[in-house]
Amino acid sequence: MKTDTPRPILLKDYRPPNYLIYAVNLDVSLDATRTRVRSRLKIKRNPAYPGNPGPLRLDGEMIELESVRLDGRQLGPREYQVTDKELVVAGVPGDPFTLETSTYCDPQANKALTGLYLSRGIYCTQCEAEGFRRITYFLDRPDVLAAYTTRIEADRSAAPVLLANGDLVERGTLDGGKRHYAVWRDPHPKPCYLFALVGGNLASYASEFTTASGRKVDLRIHVEPGKESRCAWAMDSLKRAMRWDEERFGREYDLDVFNIVAVSDFNMGAMENKGLNIFNDALILASPETATDASFAAIERVIAHEYFHNWTGNRITCRDWFQLCLKEGLTVFRDQEFCADQRFATVERIRDVRNLKAAQFPEDAGPLAHPVRPGRYIEINNFYTATVYNKGAEVVRMLQTLLGRDGFRKGMDLYFERHDGQAATVEDFLACFQDATGKDLRQFMTWYSQAGTPELVCKFKYDPRTHTADLTIAQVLPPTPGEAKKKPLHIPVQLGLVGNDGKDLSLTLTSGRNTEGGLIELTKRTETFRFRDVPSRPVPSLLRGFSAPVNLTIGLSDADLRFLMAHDSDLYNRWQAAQDYATRVLVAAVKDIRAGQRAAKPTDFVTALGVTVADESLDPGYRAQFMFLPSESDLARVIGRDVDPLAIHEARRELRKAIGTALYEPLVGIYRRYETKGPYSPAPEPAGRRALRNAALGYLTCRGKAEDVARVAAHFAQARNATDEVGALGMLSELRSPERAKAFDRFYERWKGDHLVIDNWFAYQAASPLPSALGTVTKLTRHPLFSIKNPNKVRALLGTFAMGNPVNFNRPDGKGYDFLAERVLEIDAFNPQVAARLLSSFRSWKALEPERRRMAKKTLQRIAAAKPLSPDVLEIVGKMLE
Ligand SMILES: [Zn+2]
Repeated sequence: MKTDTPRPILLKDYRPPNYLIYAVNLDVSLDATRTRVRSRLKIKRNPAYPGNPGPLRLDGEMIELESVRLDGRQLGPREYQVTDKELVVAGVPGDPFTLETSTYCDPQANKALTGLYLSRGIYCTQCEAEGFRRITYFLDRPDVLAAYTTRIEADRSAAPVLLANGDLVERGTLDGGKRHYAVWRDPHPKPCYLFALVGGNLASYASEFTTASGRKVDLRIHVEPGKESRCAWAMDSLKRAMRWDEERFGREYDLDVFNIVAVSDFNMGAMENKGLNIFNDALILASPETATDASFAAIERVIAHEYFHNWTGNRITCRDWFQLCLKEGLTVFRDQEFCADQRFATVERIRDVRNLKAAQFPEDAGPLAHPVRPGRYIEINNFYTATVYNKGAEVVRMLQTLLGRDGFRKGMDLYFERHDGQAATVEDFLACFQDATGKDLRQFMTWYSQAGTPELVCKFKYDPRTHTADLTIAQVLPPTPGEAKKKPLHIPVQLGLVGNDGKDLSLTLTSGRNTEGGLIELTKRTETFRFRDVPSRPVPSLLRGFSAPVNLTIGLSDADLRFLMAHDSDLYNRWQAAQDYATRVLVAAVKDIRAGQRAAKPTDFVTALGVTVADESLDPGYRAQFMFLPSESDLARVIGRDVDPLAIHEARRELRKAIGTALYEPLVGIYRRYETKGPYSPAPEPAGRRALRNAALGYLTCRGKAEDVARVAAHFAQARNATDEVGALGMLSELRSPERAKAFDRFYERWKGDHLVIDNWFAYQAASPLPSALGTVTKLTRHPLFSIKNPNKVRALLGTFAMGNPVNFNRPDGKGYDFLAERVLEIDAFNPQVAARLLSSFRSWKALEPERRRMAKKTLQRIAAAKPLSPDVLEIVGKMLE
C-alpha cells in the first residue's frame, strides 16, 4: 500500500511519452503464487517528444525483478534502478533497442483484482486502468500502442484452457504432456490496458458469425464447466450486436476469433480487452430460473457495450485517462441506441434517464462533482463514474440531436477514418463532426469541461389577442466545487405545443428562426422564443425525449400535467409528466409529515394514474414505467436540502398504499389478465407484461390486508421464473409477517448452491426498510456464503444497504454510517477500488438535515484520520470533506 501523500495529475501537464514501445513479446509461466513473466520490448524514441528523451522509466508495481537485458546484454545492478513504482534505465543505447525483463508476481495473493489474479481457480487479468504494471515493467499509459505476441505456459491439469488477445498461432505440450503452452498474436496495435490473458479449467459455448464482408468469426464464451447452458442469451446478444454495428455504423469485427470469459471475482461489470473480453459472470450467465428480466436486459446491454468498444475504445483509443469519456460516453451511447432498436425505444429511454438521474445527478450536485472530462485526478480508478459514462453518453446524444442522424453518422465515419489506430482526444472527436457537417461546435465543447447539472428556468405566456406564445428560458448554472462561475451551454431543447384537442400545433417562430422538428438551440443565458399563429392557449411540452441532461422548471398546473399525461404525442414526456406530478404530490406530503400534519389526499393524481395504467392501447412495459414512482433517492435529490430520509420513506409508502387501495379493482384485473403463459422468453413483450403484472401486485401488497399477503406469498411459491420469484421476495421483504421469513428461508434453501442467485437473498435483506435491517446486515457479513473479498457479494449486501436503503443507512443514531465506514476501511486494506466506490455512497451527506449531517461528517472525519489509507479512498474522503 502506498502511504506517501499522493500528488494530483493534471490534464494540462500532458506530455507525449519520451519513448514508444512498438512490439511486445511476453512469455508467461503461470503459477498460483509465483508466476514468471519474461518480456521482450522493442522500443524507439518518440519523434513527437520535444528535446532529449532522457532515461527510460518503466512503470511496475508489486512485481519482483529478476533480471534486465538491454540489446541482449545482461545489465549489472548499477546500470538500472528499481523502486516500488518503477524501473529506470539511464543509459539506453541506439534507436531502436530491445529491453528484456524477467519478473515474478503472486496471483493468489492479489485481492485488489487488478493485474493478474486467481478467481475461483481461474487465472485472469484486469489491466484497465493501470493494472498491466502489476504484470511486467512497461510504459503503462494509453498512448503507447504496440503489437503483442503472448506465450502462456501452465500445468495442463490446472489450466487446460489458455487464452490471450488476438488469434491463436501455436500450441503444444511440454514435459511429456504434464505442461502445455499456447501462443497468441494480436496484430492490431493496442495500449497495454487492453492486454488480457486467461488460464483455467473452462468449458465453452461456441457459435460463429459471418461479417458483412464474409469473414468467418469463431465465437466462444468460456465459463465454469456445467454452466454452458446458461450462455445462450449472451451469445445471441453478441451476434445481434455484431450485426447492428455493421448496419448502423458500418463497423465490422476484425479478428478470426472472439472470446469471452466469465469470472466470479471482478471489480466492474466487464472489460473490452481486444478479442478477449472478460466478464463478471453475473453479466453472462442466465436461465429463466436464475436470471430476472432485468438481468437478461443487462446482459444484452453489456455484451453489446464491450463488443462496441472494439471500434470505440480499441481501434481508436484514448490519448490519456482524462479522455476516458471518449471511449465510455460514446460506447454507452452506442449500447443505448442498440437496446432502443432491439426493444421499445421509449421504455429504454426512460430507463436511461432514470439511471442518469439516480446515479449522475447526485454526483453533479455534491462534493464529487466533476466534468465529463475531468481536469485532474489522484487515482484514475475513482473516475469510472456516472458522469463520465452516463452524462458522457448524453453529451454524445445531444450531438446527434443537433446534427441529425445523418450528420452524426457522417461525423462518426470521419472519426473512424481519420483516427483508426490512434490514441485520440475529445477535441479530435468533435473536430470530426465539425468538419463533416460544418456545424460550429466550439460552445458545445463546454459540456466536456464544465461540471454541474444546468437548470432551465422557463416562463411560458400566451396572449389570446395576438395569438402569440412567448417561451423564455434562462440557463441557471449552479456552482460546483472549484468552479464558481459557469459559462452558458449550447443546449438542444426538443419541444411541442399541445393544443386543446391534444394534438401538436405547428410551430412558427416570429424571428424566422428554425424550429424544424420542434428543435430549438439555446446558446445564451436567457432567450425568448415567440411563436405566432397559436389559436388558443396550448400546454408546452419541453425537453421531449429528455433532449438534454438538465433540470427543468416550468410552472405547469396539476391540470396541465394531467393533460400531458393523457395526450402528449411524445411518449417520453407523457411519462415525465406523470413523474413530475408524483414528485409534486410526494414532496408536499413530506412537508406535511415533517410539520406533523396529515398529508392531503392524492385523489387527482391517483385517478390520472389509474387512467393511464388501464389504457389497453399502450404497451404493458410502458405502462409499468408509470407505476414506478420516483425513488426515495430521487425525492431526496429534488428536495435538495434539509433532507429527512424517514419522512420521504413514509410519504412514499403512504402514496403506494393509497394507490393500491383506490385502484384495487383495475390492479387486480391486471394481475389476473397479464399472466404470461407458456415457456419463458426474455423478449421485451413478455418481459413488459411481467413488469406490469408485478407492479400491480406490488401495489396490492402495499395495502397489507391478509388477502394481499396471501396473494404475494402464493405468487412467490408458484413462480416459474426468477423475475416472479425474486420480484415477490422483494415485496415480501417489506412486510412484517411470518410469510416474510418463510419466503427468505425457502429462497435460501433453493439457491444456496448458486453463488449468483443467492445475491438476491443478500440484497433484499439489505434493502429492507424494517428497523432490524442493520442488525441483519451485520450478521450477514459473517454468513458462510458472504465473502468481503468478492465484489459481487460486497455490492449485493453492503452496496445495497448503503445505496438502496436510505432509511436504514441514514439512521438517526448514525450507526448505519459507522457500520459502512468500518467495512470501507476493512476493504481498503486489500481492494482500494471497491472501498472507494462504497465510500461514494456518502456523496449526498451535505444535503441531509442537520443532525444526520453532523453524524455523517463525524464518520467521514474518522475515515480521513485512519491510517494507512489508499490514494483511492484518500481522494474520495478528501473531496467529501472539502
Ligand atoms: Zn466501457
